[in-house]
Amino acid sequence: MNQQTLVLIKPDGLVKSLTGNILTRLSETKLQIIAAKMVNVNYELAVEHYKQMKDAPFFDELISYLQGTLHDRRKVMAMVYWGEDAIKKVRQLAGATNPEEAEPTSIRGSYGRITSKGVYENVLHASSDITEAEREIKLWFRPEEIIMDIYPVKKITVSTLGQKVWA
Ligand code: UDP
Ligand code: MG
Repeated sequence: MNQQTLVLIKPDGLVKSLTGNILTRLSETKLQIIAAKMVNVNYELAVEHYKQMKDAPFFDELISYLQGTLHDRRKVMAMVYWGEDAIKKVRQLAGATNPEEAEPTSIRGSYGRITSKGVYENVLHASSDITEAEREIKLWFRPEEIIMDIYPVKKITVSTLGQKVWA
């Protein structure tokens, strides 16, 4: 079944200049990238993305991690991968959440680490199921930023007040 999944290269992946390596590893899946952008992650987006972790003792650290304040690199690369069994294929290449338990050749096993404060810096995020993928993709992307109509859309008229346009 063709499906879509959200992939984020987290700030540690960017600080370690791993973008190329991660994209090369992900290309082994033969999936298509149907959306990609750099995002300056604000607090609200980080909290919404990780809202299922809100009771975790490391939640504040996790939010600083995703926002990039831990690494002094306030950006994340967000992508949507699409194709046969996309969710499982990307999760398999990513490896286990804990980089020390991840398969050594997986992306997290190769490049991840555990910080002294206990957060797993595992260089990328990948959606874990269809429901999570839909929630996350809709959180990170607007319909027109994705080159395929993967979810139903509706057209509305919005005020352009305050919107940035090319000067
Ligand atoms: N995380 C952590 N310690 C844990 C569990 C999770 O630091 O014991 C962090 C880690 O960065 C992970 C993120 O919280 O990627 C989200 O956790 P989740 O269980 O959803 O893992 P994932 O889906 O990313 O494998
Ligand atoms: Mg998860």
